Amino acid sequence: MNRIGIVGFGKIANDQHVPAIAGSGAFELVAVASRSPVTLDGIPAFTDHLQMLREVDMSAVAVCTPPSVRYAIARDCLEAGKHVMLEKPPGVTLGEVAALAQLAVAKGVTLMTTWHAQANQAVAAAADALREERIASVDIVWHEDVRKWHPGQAWIWEPGGFGVFDPGINALSIATRIVPASLIVRGAKLSVPANKAMPIAAELELASPAVDGKIGVSLDWRYAQGERWTIDVVMASGQRLALTEGGARFAVEGEERARSQGGEYPQLYAEFAWLIASKASHVDLEPLRIVADAFMLAERAQVEAFEG
Ligand code: NAP
Repeated sequence: MNRIGIVGFGKIANDQHVPAIAGSGAFELVAVASRSPVTLDGIPAFTDHLQMLREVDMSAVAVCTPPSVRYAIARDCLEAGKHVMLEKPPGVTLGEVAALAQLAVAKGVTLMTTWHAQANQAVAAAADALREERIASVDIVWHEDVRKWHPGQAWIWEPGGFGVFDPGINALSIATRIVPASLIVRGAKLSVPANKAMPIAAELELASPAVDGKIGVSLDWRYAQGERWTIDVVMASGQRLALTEGGARFAVEGEERARSQGGEYPQLYAEFAWLIASKASHVDLEPLRIVADAFMLAERAQVEAFEG
């Protein structure tokens, strides 16, 4: 049994990590550390992760803070000889994650980047289907209401907060999983509210050696009519494939072929346990690299200030 601590005890730690650890059979939650005080039945809680590392015996840590502080915390955990799981996105720059990967090797411990949206059975089924022939086009739409999904989360608008790429990187993580060749950013347009540092919407044009035509990405946080989290693919034969509901359902010509029943985080913890037992790491930078490239190339337009 791996004794694990969580650093950054907010929405995702509470909603997903705690139940996944409890059900894993391979991990036991032994402590948490978060910036504001947390109370959790029978579990020691700290406001300083270094104190948690000093006072509680553990072999692994899941870092579930906002991304801007992830690097310094993960570094401290690796230096202390702990296996580390990084929530998505694994850092705010590619360099941070590369440095963590080197440190994990030097310390002989496991580092795992997580892209929870990839851990869907429907996404795996789509990846299999897309390997069968050439792809004509891909259309990614990730529209949602920021007020519904990120109430009160000021960090998402700050530098290193990713803005609309916070959910959008989930779509990109699915795209890197299902398209059987690399994805290159050809163009990007970011819409940035007058009072914020990060975009509220983004339009990207991607290309891939596996795709003959257009790969479009539309991310928008101003969509208040529910959620549109879809990836539509047209194959060279004209066959139409669709991943909907954030990658939870996969259909070919409208006929459902695979459906995920939750289970993303249990799968991530099973993989983390396997990596630890195998003395291996898994560091996947591709979704973050696409976001970094988009920021590098982007035209920026200022849009009306966002309040709320
Ligand atoms: P959140 O609700 O704002 O939680 C983040 C937590 O980290 C807060 O409790 C915050 O403390 C704490 N924190 C901030 N700085 C810290 C530090 N230096 N040391 C220790 N704790 C610190 O955010 P979230 O939605 O859980 O998201 C966290 C990460 O998970 C993000 O990278 C996000 O992309 C990812 N994620 C989120 C979801 C989701 O549905 N929400 C899904 C998948 C992945 P305070 O309480 O003092 O602010």
